[in-house]
Amino acid sequence: ENGKRKSSDALPVPRPKLMKNDLGGSRRREIWEQRRTLPIASAAKKLVKEVENNDTLIVIGETGSGKTTQLPQFLHAAGYCKGGSMVGITQPRRVAAITVATRVSEEMGVQLSGEVGYSIRFEDATSPQTRLKFMTDGMLLREALLDPLLRKYSVIILDEAHERTVHTDVLFGLLKGVQKRRREVRADVEVDGKTEQGASMVKPLENRTQIKLDSEAHGSNGSSKSRRLKVLKVVVMSATLDAQGFCEYFDGAKAVYIQGRQHPVQIMNTYTPEADYLDAALITTLQVHLEEAPGDILVFLTGQEEIENMERLLTERAAFLPEGTPKILIAPIYAALPSEQQMRVFEPAPTGVRKVILATNIAETSLTIPGIRYVIDPGLVKAKVYNPRIGVESLAVVPISKAQAAQRSGRAGREGPGKCFRLYTVETFNKLEEATVPEIKRCNLANVVLQLKALGIDDVLGFDFMDKPSRAAIVKSLEHLYILGALTDEGKLSDPLGVQMARFPLEPVYAKAMLVSSSFRCSEEMLTTVAMLSAESIFFTPREKFKEANAARQRFTSPEGDHITLINVLRAYTQEVEGSQRIEGEVNHKKLEKKLRSWCSSNFINGRSLRRALDIRRQVRGYVEGMGLELISCGDDLNQFRRCLTASFFLNAAHKQADGKYRALSTGQTVAIHPSSVLFGKKPDCVLFNELVRTNQQYIRSLTRIDSLWLAELAPQYYSTRDLVYAARPLSQEGLLKPH
Ligand code: ADP
Ligand code: MG
Repeated sequence: ENGKRKSSDALPVPRPKLMKNDLGGSRRREIWEQRRTLPIASAAKKLVKEVENNDTLIVIGETGSGKTTQLPQFLHAAGYCKGGSMVGITQPRRVAAITVATRVSEEMGVQLSGEVGYSIRFEDATSPQTRLKFMTDGMLLREALLDPLLRKYSVIILDEAHERTVHTDVLFGLLKGVQKRRREVRADVEVDGKTEQGASMVKPLENRTQIKLDSEAHGSNGSSKSRRLKVLKVVVMSATLDAQGFCEYFDGAKAVYIQGRQHPVQIMNTYTPEADYLDAALITTLQVHLEEAPGDILVFLTGQEEIENMERLLTERAAFLPEGTPKILIAPIYAALPSEQQMRVFEPAPTGVRKVILATNIAETSLTIPGIRYVIDPGLVKAKVYNPRIGVESLAVVPISKAQAAQRSGRAGREGPGKCFRLYTVETFNKLEEATVPEIKRCNLANVVLQLKALGIDDVLGFDFMDKPSRAAIVKSLEHLYILGALTDEGKLSDPLGVQMARFPLEPVYAKAMLVSSSFRCSEEMLTTVAMLSAESIFFTPREKFKEANAARQRFTSPEGDHITLINVLRAYTQEVEGSQRIEGEVNHKKLEKKLRSWCSSNFINGRSLRRALDIRRQVRGYVEGMGLELISCGDDLNQFRRCLTASFFLNAAHKQADGKYRALSTGQTVAIHPSSVLFGKKPDCVLFNELVRTNQQYIRSLTRIDSLWLAELAPQYYSTRDLVYAARPLSQEGLLKPH
């Protein structure tokens, strides 16, 4: 009912002003025209009114209707950013946070990181002027640690709520609590006007953080009116139609619908299952290009490596297309793509050229890329899968749900009739799950539990979850944190270890590794490890140059395993590229970039990944230094580093069995060394690993060879010597965690 388009409902979208040194009047007019015709434009006034009248509002609207880019601007125009308040918009994905913030700043004609900014892990593009802040849901959770009442925000928009990421799910419960406490503080202030009273009302949560009622009120513009903390408005936005669950969870909150404009999409399935979906995707892409009318193609793939492979294969094949065939322009988009390259996917292809977008799940609902007419959907997604019984989380390529399949095909019908090629049979489709299981039910909760504990929420089992994770999963994560030393016997956050771990924007086990590394005098090396592992796929092995790539890799390879190999890469880079630059004098960024590129290509290193690793390294270094920890290098004493790895990742140890297979010590699972490891085929007795990947079997990846006796020496809380010598079995976990 709220979707009908009445022109009187529309907020006047300000007419473009022609500015000097601007993008040019025609660009601004084009943007203005686009905004004005979005489905949401005609409901602007109504939406603002609904936000005004409801503390919590659910907004449902099809992908591309303008929710993400427009609603924040409507609220800005309606005065929700007055007096320095901010509107925060969460996104499950970093790429979405970046590209949407960039787009909105362009629409508003302001500098990015000025009035419109974004904040993602390892990158903060905001300033004191920022009023519309796009951020990942994980970042807002971190902000709540520093400011439990989120007092800077007048409105928080939880976008892409249908994705049900674990962070968004936790924010649901958290924001409900913040709303309640802001009301209490307010009521209290209104009664006797004393700030101290207000502070005591919010006791249970903020035992750790001293609350002053209104720090900004003591500043220059602290009139008694602005001193009042307003109720926090929460807007939950989703692209799927069932608002029911959200409404119920938010105590009967109102839902409004934005009418979309979906054109018909013809759906084609394969007759028989495809043995190799990548090959099928490649062939289908070329076929569509040769046979179908103009319009861009969107191909859904599962990750960076797959996308890069496909990019290469398509480029090769495109060179052999019959003469006269239009050209194609390949545009990849995935999380690890450097932010300055992410916007390229939105640039229209030159006339007569067909754009082929190779995307991960990002393009399902988070991003709307104009111009798409054909969708190729292999029906798969890379997702976390979790076994709470043994506490193991791994990444696996799994089938999508029916809801996801519908979203994907919908991308072809945004601007006109389209076609979707599903590379699976109708029978396969019929067997898909209706909807995706919320992530909170299929991931390791250690990180979330640590954050909740740091927020003072000790009763994690009793937390107000929309979908409760299993008791087993919560208990497992409590155990995990206890074993890492982050929790005390009473299940409270340990001080300083647990408190410091929660402060790091890293998974608990990596945070722990960073923290213990200074006592092993190898924090530089651990910093490098954390950065290189976060960046993924540092090595680049094109199929056709397999031998050369492997030969190039030899110079970095350490017989001790992948971690030291990665350290060798970074050390070589620092010495050969950055070092030589420094000798020549002042660092010239253009020159450095050129050198990086040529160094990477001659060493078969993935330049994008290395750049990202360097970036993460710089950011984590900032955190380490900010916490007053010393950064020390162990130099050539890499045994020290391997011992430190043991003290940190002891939960991920695997031991060779009599039959040559490996057994993960903490879970008893049978695992195999991943072919990408430098230890593949080397059969070391005992290894540590960082990652589990499930394909046809469980693989362990990112490995280092260790002495199994180190486990008992460096993790005596978990392993006993006798166990390791005789049975390679950890202590029974029963009773490790005292009930409280
Ligand atoms: P929703 O959140 O409802 O899915 P969005 O607000 O993301 O919708 O998108 C609204 C419109 O803005 C879409 O038509 C989309 O094509 C356009 N758009 C969004 N981001 C960009 C961009 N970076 N470049 C060009 N157009 C964009
Ligand atoms: Mg959106």
